[in-house]
Amino acid sequence: MKTYQLYINGQYVDPANGEWFESIDPYRGEAWAKIPRGTAADADKAVKAANEAMWNGPWAKMTASARGKAMRKLGDLVAANAERLAEIEVRDNGKLMAEMLGQLRYHPEWWWYFGGLVDKLEGGLVPIDKAETFAYTTHEPVGVVAALTAWNSPLLFVAWKCAAALAAGCAVVVKPSEFTSASTLEFAALTKEAGVPDGIFNVVTGFGPEAGSALISHPGVAKITFTGSDTTGAKVYETAAKSLKRVSLELGGKSPNIVFEDADLTAAAAGAISGIFAATGQTCIAGSRLLVQSSIKEKFVARVLELAKSAKIGDPMQSDTNVGPITTPAQYKKVLDYIDIAKAEGARCLLGGKPASGDGIKGGQFVEPTIFTDVDNTMRIAREEVFGPVLSIISFDTEEDAIRIANDTIYGLAAGIWTKDLARAIRVPKQLRAGTVWVNTYRAISYMMPFGGMKFSGVGRESGIDAVREYQETKSVWISTATDVPANPFVMR
Ligand code: NAD
Repeated sequence: MKTYQLYINGQYVDPANGEWFESIDPYRGEAWAKIPRGTAADADKAVKAANEAMWNGPWAKMTASARGKAMRKLGDLVAANAERLAEIEVRDNGKLMAEMLGQLRYHPEWWWYFGGLVDKLEGGLVPIDKAETFAYTTHEPVGVVAALTAWNSPLLFVAWKCAAALAAGCAVVVKPSEFTSASTLEFAALTKEAGVPDGIFNVVTGFGPEAGSALISHPGVAKITFTGSDTTGAKVYETAAKSLKRVSLELGGKSPNIVFEDADLTAAAAGAISGIFAATGQTCIAGSRLLVQSSIKEKFVARVLELAKSAKIGDPMQSDTNVGPITTPAQYKKVLDYIDIAKAEGARCLLGGKPASGDGIKGGQFVEPTIFTDVDNTMRIAREEVFGPVLSIISFDTEEDAIRIANDTIYGLAAGIWTKDLARAIRVPKQLRAGTVWVNTYRAISYMMPFGGMKFSGVGRESGIDAVREYQETKSVWISTATDVPANPFVMR
């Protein structure tokens, strides 16, 4: 079993309290790595190192081009190590190798894109409305960033947050999920190899209420970027408010995937399946509410069922597996509890609805792909995030109905619509309260496309050029070119 160390100021070091905890492989149900149990002392050490490196170290003195070059090299190194890192993530979170390898192969794009942006980010001259004045703005790093990530896509979230933060000139301290810390600790070595100076990228592992809480309340942290549940996100927001830290939050969802009667039903059925069963439903953008127009409900649901029944459940490392295990014991229990709740509420279970068993299934944390129909949008199964392979089918009659039901949620992360009607494809996205709307596709993401949520799904956006601004402060500089002094110094010029 590998024993990991924290990564602080360019060095792998033991945690201050000398304690470790085990990381469990959810497929085999056995411990496979020892992760340092970081505490406030480690968070303090990392934040101090990050401040020193960022404000007084080489990072601030490097040219933007040199910083960008190191970031692009980091992308190259991740590309060269994609398979190794993906295998570590699968051991930790049990998601399919096909999915994690895809993510790790795509991950470098964030470093290449944001690395390319670094030397093109300056402020500008302001054609100011005052005589004899030269005015300009600059965008400066906000300060040290605490980056807290969730267990479902550990290194993808590191890319989303840290590529933008480093491009902005910040230093980061990452606190990965306690369930999936290993890949972030392995990634840290690549930052050094790429030429990112010591102290700019740090990793403090440990539990949320311990290491995470100490990190976000540290006075040396200027900005918190968080991916996780809305419950924890609200706590993070509250803590941040006490010392007026800047905050970005990427939280949960209960996304509607809307199928209109004029849709290509073959494509829509595939989109419905990937929307909920890809990653075993453990994604924030899961299309967990399938809204189907009543006129096509019977034939469309039959297609979705047929596809769902073909899912092969088993070893996430095998390329022919479609549905893997649930990552944590607590999450496994939560998914099964929601299935019971849905049944008690009167939703009709068309498929699954119980733990999966059989050949190739180990560890015990498997849930059968589950489909409920006759779901009413007022039921808990339609309102609360399950984060598992559980689909709720809700029918609607008109476009207005679909929009009303889709928006009737506290969340606003994503939505999908399936239609061949061009006018509808333009009209409906405008009326949906969601940060991302996919038309005739689902689950597409890109380093150049802003991503984030409305309402309970979060604050701020990641990816895309503007993400850098989430890690910067704008400074306005005024230079007087006047040769005289004001006649009346008591009045503003
Ligand atoms: P979580 O909220 O339990 O944990 C997220 C992170 O916060 C972890 O690193 C955890 O250790 C830390 N944490 C927990 N309690 C803390 C505290 N009191 N103080 C400081 N830090 C604390 O979330 P999770 O279970 O890891 O992830 C699943 C959730 O994440 C789901 O709700 C999902 O929708 C959401 N998610 C959102 C996105 C997005 O981009 N919007 C992406 C993936 C997952």
